[in-house]
Amino acid sequence: MGEVSPCDLCGGSDFQGLYTSVDRLFNVPGMFAIARCRACGLVSQYPLPSPAKIKSFYPNVYYPDPKPPDIKPSHRLALQLYLGYPGAPAMVPARDRLSAWFRARRILAKHPFLIPYIPGGRILDVGCGAGTFLLMMQSLGWNVAGVEMNAVTAEKLNTKFSANVFGGDFLDAPFETHSFDVIFMSHMLEHVLSPSRILDKARSLLKPGGQIWIAVPNFSSVEAALFRSYWYGLDLPRHIHQFTPGTLRAYLAKAGFKRVRIRWEKSTGGITHSLANLGVRLPRFLEKILIKETLATLLHKLRLSDRMVAGALLETLCLIHAVP
Ligand SMILES: [Zn+2]
Repeated sequence: MGEVSPCDLCGGSDFQGLYTSVDRLFNVPGMFAIARCRACGLVSQYPLPSPAKIKSFYPNVYYPDPKPPDIKPSHRLALQLYLGYPGAPAMVPARDRLSAWFRARRILAKHPFLIPYIPGGRILDVGCGAGTFLLMMQSLGWNVAGVEMNAVTAEKLNTKFSANVFGGDFLDAPFETHSFDVIFMSHMLEHVLSPSRILDKARSLLKPGGQIWIAVPNFSSVEAALFRSYWYGLDLPRHIHQFTPGTLRAYLAKAGFKRVRIRWEKSTGGITHSLANLGVRLPRFLEKILIKETLATLLHKLRLSDRMVAGALLETLCLIHAVP
């Protein structure tokens, strides 16, 4: 047996094997295993793949052409009136104000990433893909920058939208230290070999008091335990690490982040994908009635939605007090 890489979170080298899976998305050949570090609990692919091998895990990754964001005027008004976004009209009828207030609550519940506006704020989207979030934030008044491994997509975002996207590895991105108010990483951290190095760099780029938003699949969710190797969030071999609230908090503490808050995404979409991995495909209307309406409503009523099904994804909001 070859040399085993130490745990990225704690440096430990004692691992407990969990289970194996084939690639259920792109059919990359091979059998892939995950193991848990006995010292800190981090779950990682075992053995860790080499960087060259990781490239082979993305055979057909294709992004659609970036397109301008489509923000409904009523949503824009809600953000302007109640989340500090610039450009609010001077006169707004009381009735529109009231509906905008309700809409702002709903937007925040549904899209917690739509954080209150920071005047002159700079936001960095690491792993921005075709720029859906980046271009929306730009259109809402943020000063944006991004990082995208796909250099062609990065180039398109720059020429068409002046989006300031670095095409390549985040660790090589030449951004100035302490220059961002917000760093956003949606479903990116589980794909990298060393989340430690990514979080260290992110922290060095944040201004004092800046914030990082991370979304990753939650390995401690009921969905993960139930579906095991069929769980949609496993996505072997592209997901190198699997996080739980505990290991993510440990990672953030190690990188010097304070005031960590964890929110659970209220979505049941993952179940549909996990069922599809098992070969179960419900007709759209049944899926909507059974999973989205019945199951989601029931779990919500029982106040279980955060911990149960919807806990398949977790998002964290971390605020730094100060940067030394
Ligand atoms: Zn460890």
